[in-house]
Amino acid sequence: MRGTVIRRGDASYEEARLDAVWNARKPDRFPDVIVLAEDEQDVVRAVRLARAEGLPVSIRSGGHSWVGNGVRDGGVLVDLSRLREITVDAGARTATVQPAAKGPAVQEALAGHGLFFPTGHAPTVGIGGFILGGGYGWNSRHLGPACLSIRAIDVVLADGTLVHATDETHPDLMWAARGSGPGFFGIVTRFHLDVYDRPTTIVRTVHSYPLDLRDEVLAWSYDLLDQLPTTVEFSAKIGFTPGLDTRTVSLTATAFCTPEHGPEALAPLEQAPFRDRALRAVVGQETTIEELYDIADRLNPEGLRWAVDGIWAEGPAEELLTAAAPVLDTIPDGTSFVLWMLWGHYPPRPNACWSAQARAYLSPNAGWHDPEADLAHENWVHGSLAAVQHLSKGLQFSDNNVADRFDLGLSAENAERLEKIRGVHDPDGLFRTYMAPAESTTAYAVSRRP
Ligand SMILES: Cc1cc2nc3c(=O)[nH]c(=O)nc-3n(C[C@H](O)[C@H](O)[C@H](O)COP(=O)(O)OP(=O)(O)OC[C@H]3O[C@@H](n4cnc5c(N)ncnc54)[C@H](O)[C@@H]3O)c2cc1C
Repeated sequence: MRGTVIRRGDASYEEARLDAVWNARKPDRFPDVIVLAEDEQDVVRAVRLARAEGLPVSIRSGGHSWVGNGVRDGGVLVDLSRLREITVDAGARTATVQPAAKGPAVQEALAGHGLFFPTGHAPTVGIGGFILGGGYGWNSRHLGPACLSIRAIDVVLADGTLVHATDETHPDLMWAARGSGPGFFGIVTRFHLDVYDRPTTIVRTVHSYPLDLRDEVLAWSYDLLDQLPTTVEFSAKIGFTPGLDTRTVSLTATAFCTPEHGPEALAPLEQAPFRDRALRAVVGQETTIEELYDIADRLNPEGLRWAVDGIWAEGPAEELLTAAAPVLDTIPDGTSFVLWMLWGHYPPRPNACWSAQARAYLSPNAGWHDPEADLAHENWVHGSLAAVQHLSKGLQFSDNNVADRFDLGLSAENAERLEKIRGVHDPDGLFRTYMAPAESTTAYAVSRRP
């Protein structure tokens, strides 16, 4: 092993365990062994070690799972945080990226070639969990969820072999990799990705309105989506607004311009019937991906305890907003907010299990400091969403820990097929799959146990 094998009781164990989770809300779960892999062969060795010791395997890439999914009780945690290589083949319009690479490094490697990838919104998110879980990144409405850009993967399987999987050689594995999130049964050591033309410019409009306009703004934005080309990413945030000392409902539209769709795509926002009531407005301002990363980083700052959940939903805007009132009316003070992401529909593909989406995505994000306040915030995040459940079209694996609030992250048909494929590739259940309620150590999960 070129990397390090750390066992429970070793001096460096606790540091390695805590480092595996970006969130300040760390899980009370303790792996038996943590392997800090140095390269792909170390990943193979880690899987063989787990097999030899009869231990299950969990995985950490960027460590951004909100619940620290990789940190499980017992077993071997394979920590991939040192696997960050990126290579670009500009002629082929492809890139290979190791799982712990972060969005800004990927963008930087591509920028020199005039290329782009829909990396995650926060600069610190790892590519590994992001892509496998769907991957709703910058310009994803146009370029698709990131998982659909996977051309091939290098993956260590349950039998301890490292294979290069493509749609031709391993169609079932590739289908599963495109969207199964923490339910994937293998360790991806390298993603081979399609990459795209860099936007000609990126232009942004942001309107912040007083909270009393909340439902009017949200309903209007829901209907406006049809007038915006997919090159415009469009969302609202309700609650905490970085840079303003009052809570607002803020609309943000970001145009990733192409020769066909320029900044004029943002013009309809200026026709909002409540436009003159904006507390702050940025109109058609040119920006950069670096600046977008900086803005996103300020929305979910590091060092707080974070709980996040989300539901894909659609229906008449009024019905949706009435159902969502328990979430929207009770946003905790401080840095918490609700994301109202307007998505629409991206064409699903038969070679991908990714299958949960809707016109809008409603996602409460709670951020706080005091551990005593865990339950109150988690009750808001998971408990209040129950009021919208009847309109749910599923969840995003990236945001939801199915152990805290169960919902389907794939269509029922794809969820069933995934389990059949798992049975073939990982018959003994070496890899941990979706977390069960009994494994969750959140105050919310504990409070609901009999
Ligand atoms: C501040 C913040 C902002 C975010 N913004 C976005 C966003 O804009 N869009 C979006 O879609 N999501 C977003 N997310 C969610 C994020 O994409 C997921 O939490 C994702 O799992 C993080 O990937 P990671 O590699 O950093 O996580 P990790 O915690 O390292 O991994 C989570 C799980 O994914 C699986 N996994 C990870 N790597 C591998 C691998 N190489 N092989 C096999 N399985 C693997 C494992 O089950 C692992 O336990 C955000 C999260 C945070 C904390």
